[in-house]
Amino acid sequence: MKRRVLTVIKRTGAVARTWSGLAMTSGVRVLLYHSVGFQSREDRLGLSVSSAQFRDQMSWLADVQVPVLSVEGLVAGLAEGGALPGWGVVISFDDGYLSAAEEAWPVLKALGWPAVCFVSTGPKESDSKAYWSRWPRLSLEEWVALDAEGFTVGAHGVSHRPLTGLSASALRAELVESRQTLESVLGRPVRWLSYPHGSVNGPVLQATREAGFNVGFTSRPGKVAVGGELLAIPRIEVTAEDTLGDFQRKVRGAYDWLKVFKKS
Ligand SMILES: [Zn+2]
Repeated sequence: MKRRVLTVIKRTGAVARTWSGLAMTSGVRVLLYHSVGFQSREDRLGLSVSSAQFRDQMSWLADVQVPVLSVEGLVAGLAEGGALPGWGVVISFDDGYLSAAEEAWPVLKALGWPAVCFVSTGPKESDSKAYWSRWPRLSLEEWVALDAEGFTVGAHGVSHRPLTGLSASALRAELVESRQTLESVLGRPVRWLSYPHGSVNGPVLQATREAGFNVGFTSRPGKVAVGGELLAIPRIEVTAEDTLGDFQRKVRGAYDWLKVFKKS
């Protein structure tokens, strides 16, 4: 799915650039990163942005004073009686790579910004042959200190298998076990998750709710909708192929329309 969207982004970049020159949309968007500063020749999906890219992107966010929200802030803004800023971002990471802790977090911490990282609790069984499964990740115990600092941990399944392909019992186990494992390590409730591979459908939403989660993040681009489904909050992925201009356009909503290419 990622490959398909990357291709679409490349092919339609010119269209998006033209469109974004004509209009700028407001709204809060959740940015999705995986790795930062981990150089790998095999990273054909562009999952790892360079350290320089990340610093430039954060500098620009700071320069234009985009409000950076925590997940708590986002949820409070979406609650009845709450309010979201007219424009803003939430900074999220998937998978719990070491590089996010070593390269991205110091930058964010210096800016005083929160972030969230969604971490799978078990070995990546389904991805064992995928190149990213060989990238170094922090242990759950190592995430505890970062969680306390404001790099909040959320769930990302146990095995990182796509949830839509599982039996009802396996689906429930992925959700409940990931939540319970994180809660026992962190010593606090865990109510947020991102769906591995962005894979979500109606039965997965229902099982996620039943497993005790109240906020779920997809990999479908778009702005956060007040009154929308809290278990299907969109995110826009930032990749190694993004120029600073591409990033700015993503934050401004010029790529929101790519959601039409995302089935899950
Ligand atoms: Zn993942």
